[in-house]
Amino acid sequence: MKLVELVVASGKGGVGKSTISGSLAALLARKGFKLVAADSDAEEPNLHIVLGIDRWDRIEEYYEGRIAYILQDKCTKCNICAEVCPFGAVEVTDGNYRINEYVCEGCVTCSLACPAKAIRYRFGIVAGHIMFAERTKYGFPLVSGESVPGRPNSGKLVTEVKNRAKAILGSEGVLLLDAAAGIGCQVISSLTGAQFALLVIEPTKASLSDLKRIHKLTKHFMMAPMLVINKYDINPEMIDKIEEYAKEENIPIAGKIPFDESVPNSINMGKLVVEAFPDSPASRELKRIADFIAEEVLSNWRAWYSKYRPKKHEPYIPVIIRPQRG
Ligand code: SF4
Ligand code: SF4
Repeated sequence: MKLVELVVASGKGGVGKSTISGSLAALLARKGFKLVAADSDAEEPNLHIVLGIDRWDRIEEYYEGRIAYILQDKCTKCNICAEVCPFGAVEVTDGNYRINEYVCEGCVTCSLACPAKAIRYRFGIVAGHIMFAERTKYGFPLVSGESVPGRPNSGKLVTEVKNRAKAILGSEGVLLLDAAAGIGCQVISSLTGAQFALLVIEPTKASLSDLKRIHKLTKHFMMAPMLVINKYDINPEMIDKIEEYAKEENIPIAGKIPFDESVPNSINMGKLVVEAFPDSPASRELKRIADFIAEEVLSNWRAWYSKYRPKKHEPYIPVIIRPQRG
């Protein structure tokens, strides 16, 4: 099987995405799939915790482009850089113009606009780390990224994490990504180039609203979606609404996981629920979902992909919010 990317994503955080990612990775690896897992939530990586990893085999520094700074002896205090900076990174302290390095995205707008040529750049900033577990106790490698607090461009770090994971995998196998919550740049990096999205939802109004947003994004990337409803039995009234949306949008439901105390208990034990409590209701449903993905989706992935990918491309219209100046 050629390299296939399966992204586990959710519009909303705290819906059990990492628990599901870890369990499915372990179950698919157990079925004989050549698989690499990647944690692409660089701001809050926790797949390694779910997988019981307390020591990395290797950690690499990740460097990013540039941060602007101002040469005070050249600055004429014209205020142009503050006016043009799209990120609100230019600050005025005691009458002097300075650039907040935790906000600057290195976009070069200010230096192009500065009439006094007073703006320079520092390069090679450590923006994050990429961590490697060569073989988890479940038999597959894990690559994880973690951004340095305050550094922007975590989307680029996620792209690097994906590239490292693909290099380990080679030209064949399954890359299973545990994406960040939401629809931000990290999620966009996770979805880019992937064929399948396993969307995780809980039966709440907020979760359904966020699901629609992430689903729209997967349509932009022409991905074939699947749905998993986690803790489906905590709010039965929402199930009809979720199923109606899935039917309207041609999203197959891969499974419905019941609320099960064995899930948090297994996390406290540093184990996957499918290992710690293999006969629990949640584990039984996770195994059924893994069977579905293995037998229905991956066994003939091209046919599945052409059946469920969007029929038309969804335009991506980012919302740009500029910081307000006081
Ligand atoms: S644009 Fe240049 S000269 Fe004007 S305030 Fe900024 S750094 Fe100083
Ligand atoms: S490089 Fe871009 S983000 Fe940084 S201060 Fe200049 S305009 Fe703002």
